[in-house]
Amino acid sequence: MLPALLVLGSGSMLPADPPRPWVGFHMFAPTDPASFLQIKDLVAKGLKPLGVNALILEFTSDSFAYQSVPELKPYARGVGKKEARELASFCRAQGVRVIPQLNCVGHQSWAETTFGLLKAFPEIDETPGQFPGNKGIYCRSWCTSNPKSYEVVFRLIDELMDAFQADAFHVGMDEVFLIGHESCPLCKGKDPGELFANAVKRLHRHLKSKRATMLMWGDRLLDGRATGYGEWEAATNGTHTAIDRIPKDIVMCDWHYEPRAGYPSLEIFQQKGFRVWPAGWRNEAATEAFLEDSRRKATPKMLGHLFTSWGGSPEQLLAALSAPEGATKPEGAGDWWSVGRVVRRFAPRVAKDAAFGARE
Ligand SMILES: [Zn+2]
Repeated sequence: MLPALLVLGSGSMLPADPPRPWVGFHMFAPTDPASFLQIKDLVAKGLKPLGVNALILEFTSDSFAYQSVPELKPYARGVGKKEARELASFCRAQGVRVIPQLNCVGHQSWAETTFGLLKAFPEIDETPGQFPGNKGIYCRSWCTSNPKSYEVVFRLIDELMDAFQADAFHVGMDEVFLIGHESCPLCKGKDPGELFANAVKRLHRHLKSKRATMLMWGDRLLDGRATGYGEWEAATNGTHTAIDRIPKDIVMCDWHYEPRAGYPSLEIFQQKGFRVWPAGWRNEAATEAFLEDSRRKATPKMLGHLFTSWGGSPEQLLAALSAPEGATKPEGAGDWWSVGRVVRRFAPRVAKDAAFGARE
């Protein structure tokens, strides 16, 4: 937290810099080095001119050339430390903070594909040997009770932190449905809220030891029934009680992608003492409603807005961000086209909105 006034040696007082809104952009990190380095153009020509000052890059246990866990077999010519350093120093010079992300606990598979972590270490799978082909589940999880989970994951986090020379890290933790599962000998019968809180605390303790700010998605900490958010953007599987058991200096990325009359999580997180970074997606009406509610409910813990993309290459995203007003959607363009419209329209507003700001 910055003091309101900075006291100078002479005794004169000057106002501190006004808080700076966090204007973020979230994207998947491309796995091909050439495409990955195209992010430099995306930042310099697309994002920065619109006021974006933070970039969250999401990796999986496959999509970076990790060196410290030989059991993992990342893509043969994948993105590694060299490319990460190049991008990080470029973004730093542009005034854009890069925050790497690795999904922890949940999202260890997508459709029938299980990611490298649980393939290399099946013993930390929360549902070992269950759900062949990932049929009948959303995504696999790693076990929150097994020390081996943290031993491996901390190494991956440390590598990403070092590669990007980052001062903050996003641990994901959204949409965790498999936790405290009956097929896990270590978690069976345990309270999902306690298991989830323990995972958050262990990750936080590790990042704190590196003097890094921890960010996470907020959905598992919200009561899906009491808030009316349901089981995706909030939890109905008991993890929400973790909200009172975890450190308050975690930045809560509160994602909601549909239009609503109000977003109760905005006041819940702030009242509990967390800084909140609301996150929207492709829907303009939803983003507008969410931004308005964020302004209305803003306390000094309201950071700004995080624009998510969930697809599109750096080239495609840059094309969408640079399109002239009224341009028609190209044939076959995905959600990235709509994302471009949302960011063009709203990022400059967030960047100069005095309701938002970083007060660390
Ligand atoms: Zn377990």
